[in-house]
Amino acid sequence: MWFAAEGRPKGRPTTKVEPVTIDVVTIFPRLVEEALAEGVVARARESGKLDIRARDLREFTDDKHRSVDDVPFGGGPGMVMKPEPIARAIEAVEAERGQASAVILMTPQGRRFTQAEADRLSRMDRLIVICGRYEGVDERLTEMKVTDEYSIGDYVLTGGELPALVLIDAVARLVPGVVGDAESVAVESFSGGLLDHPQYTRPAVWRGREVPPVLLSGHHAEIDRWRSEQRRMRTLERRPDLLTADEAGASEWSEPSGANSSADQERSASVTTQARRGAGVPADKSKEKSDEGD
Ligand code: SAM
Repeated sequence: MWFAAEGRPKGRPTTKVEPVTIDVVTIFPRLVEEALAEGVVARARESGKLDIRARDLREFTDDKHRSVDDVPFGGGPGMVMKPEPIARAIEAVEAERGQASAVILMTPQGRRFTQAEADRLSRMDRLIVICGRYEGVDERLTEMKVTDEYSIGDYVLTGGELPALVLIDAVARLVPGVVGDAESVAVESFSGGLLDHPQYTRPAVWRGREVPPVLLSGHHAEIDRWRSEQRRMRTLERRPDLLTADEAGASEWSEPSGANSSADQERSASVTTQARRGAGVPADKSKEKSDEGD
């Protein structure tokens, strides 16, 4: 059954005082630990905003070979992950931490993981993430224990560790306080259903290419208007599937007929490409020299 294991609070909103806990059940705990030992997530762990632990699935086996997999009933290639060690791992984590808000299985058969799903999970207190291997996990474990199944895309990886790390990274940066500047999380690709606008930094002229002049103008209202138009154009050009019909039509250079005609698409590509090229004007050399010191 999808996303509905019995008796669990779903999407419990919280005001965060305690760290968000994420327990990753895996046969490769070092792989997970090492990926979480650098950068923003590592700093959030050190400062106590996130408490993330990799749990070695083999610790929850009871045979001398510490086996986590077995042959598939009905025959066929590969091995299947046994349900009992995973169930024990979940129960041990819940005995230690309290009931999980969500028990997540990474699987190519799951719902597509999106920014909206990351946002939903970032409002929860306690997550458990299960990493599959081999041919996947015994279905009965999924039915009994899993609340959410997520895929990170339409391709098959060898294991759930990289998908789990993708999910954790996307969720972690939305936990309040993890990313220093809250605005950088609020205004970026997929927030508000749009891709982000192009970004530029110093120097103002680089290898003959100028930054769009509006960004140097100091007119905040103009800059906001330019950025918002760029976001819309970029989204229309690259990901029109993200736009509603109203949003696609709202752009001043878009025909009322919508975004799907080839004329529209050509125009959007050309406008965006011009914008991307910083208006396409080669910089004058003396200006380039003076701006390089910025
Ligand atoms: N037999 C499975 C199928 O066809 O659906 C694929 C198993 S895959 C080789 C092994 C494990 O990698 C899965 O159980 C899952 O945990 C993880 N995995 C692979 N691709 C994934 C994806 N696109 N998204 C999330 N998890 C994935």
